[in-house]
Amino acid sequence: MEGSALTSLELDSQATTVDAVVIGAGPGGIATSVALKRAGVKSFLILERESKIGGVWRDNTYPGAACDVPSFLYSFSFEMNTQWSKVFAPQAEIRDYLERCVEKYGLRRHILCDTEVVRLGFDETTSRWIVTTATGKVIKTSVVLTAVGQLNRPAVPKLSGIETFSGPHFHSARWDHHVELEGKSVAVIGAGASAIQVVPHVAKIAARLTVFQRSPPWVMPKPDRAYSDSEKWRFKWLPLLARASRAKLYWSYERGHDKVIAGTKLNKAMEVTARAIIAKIKDPALRKTVTPDYPLGCKRILLSNEWYPALAQDNVKVTAEGIERVTPTAIVTKDGGKHPVDAIIYCTGFKSTEFLLPMEIVGRDNKRLHDIWKDGAEAYRGSSVPGFPNLFMIYGPNTTVPSSAIFMIECQVNYVIKFVKRILRDELVFEVKREPMRRFNEMIQHRAQRYAWMSSCNNWFKSASGKLVNNWPSPTLKFFLLTRVLDAQNYQITRQSE
Ligand code: NAP
Repeated sequence: MEGSALTSLELDSQATTVDAVVIGAGPGGIATSVALKRAGVKSFLILERESKIGGVWRDNTYPGAACDVPSFLYSFSFEMNTQWSKVFAPQAEIRDYLERCVEKYGLRRHILCDTEVVRLGFDETTSRWIVTTATGKVIKTSVVLTAVGQLNRPAVPKLSGIETFSGPHFHSARWDHHVELEGKSVAVIGAGASAIQVVPHVAKIAARLTVFQRSPPWVMPKPDRAYSDSEKWRFKWLPLLARASRAKLYWSYERGHDKVIAGTKLNKAMEVTARAIIAKIKDPALRKTVTPDYPLGCKRILLSNEWYPALAQDNVKVTAEGIERVTPTAIVTKDGGKHPVDAIIYCTGFKSTEFLLPMEIVGRDNKRLHDIWKDGAEAYRGSSVPGFPNLFMIYGPNTTVPSSAIFMIECQVNYVIKFVKRILRDELVFEVKREPMRRFNEMIQHRAQRYAWMSSCNNWFKSASGKLVNNWPSPTLKFFLLTRVLDAQNYQITRQSE
């Protein structure tokens, strides 16, 4: 296949060979594919499990969904959008932006939607990856670039008795827009980043809303506002102004990095601010319920001006009692309380630590990636793992940051694309060596100890064993610098067998 994309029909009829396969058409897959095109790679496919592109910005359609990182920073450096409606753009605007990127950079013809990859197997005789889809299609390729995200598989708690519940129940990332919540009794389970956006909206329309909170979040004011027409005009016609706005945001996030390091001045000052906001809540019982008992920064620090006012509404109740069981019409808490509900919304997060699952990934010597990762995922520079040559991850382990994921994605893309060019030009196989991988991950776990993430709270950044698997424990500038060069010395380089 040279220069043209495949149709599903062609793919059905043969075992196809392409130069590169990108898995996922979210922000990571889009950035990767734009880089492939710019590198002159023509023969590549983007395999997308769902019927549309956009990743989390396709999935999270719940009312109130918006980015919690300013849009000038949470967007591609190669595709500045000067027309964001607000500092923190709503979900539909970000999804549309991603759609526009797909069109503008000619990616559509490379994308195969409704194509779930179930297996990646490295064929040692040909040095090619064999990609198998859920419908049994087979694609052979020199390079695999996974861009499946970290927050794509909803974690739904198995509540006792839920099968008897007579009303609708769904996860925030699978919002059922057919369900009318107006005038109903609604339960929201969870009090994390999605809940704080969902709750103020549901509180406006539901007759009664009960928030089942396991642990309260630390919440800071959200400095959001609409951009005026004249600002948008200036951003459009003076592009340097938009760039400057992005740069300013970047450096302010870098300077603010200390907020997630335990015990720093900034970390303490933010906790004081967050406590002062809680202190303004009139109801002492609510005040107590929403005050966290763990250090600020251990979970993601959330931004909202609407969360506490919504919780204080007369039709809203927060319960910190654990859920015991569900009946056909109610949720029963461990204190015996019975909370009648018509609908249940799970804002309970994602299976974030299960990187790349449920794909089966089999590398050299028939080793399975998930066996190697049984104590928690790790990768060299978030990208590669010994035994899995010419397989690169975008937004892989230890690349989440408390600022822009898009920035980290672009750093990683810049890094791996250098390998891709060499692989395809010189028919090479790059496999990261064990020693640099060990040193890199030792550095990660060592640095992690300074961070509030490692203190005593549940968060989605650590594996069950307590290893930091999602977050990058340094300023993003360090990752940017690390991913500038192709460090060939840290890789075993061989020729492809064919
Ligand atoms: P989350 O922040 O991990 O919150 C999940 C919530 O559900 C937590 O309050 C958790 O309690 C609770 N929970 C989980 N299992 C439970 C159970 N069995 N019973 C009761 N409560 C339970 O998940 P999320 O809100 O989906 O957000 C995940 C990440 O997505 C965020 O950190 C952020 O990076 C991203 N996100 C971004 C945006 C944005 O940019 N606008 C919006 C939403 C999400 P515990 O805290 O006690 O575990």
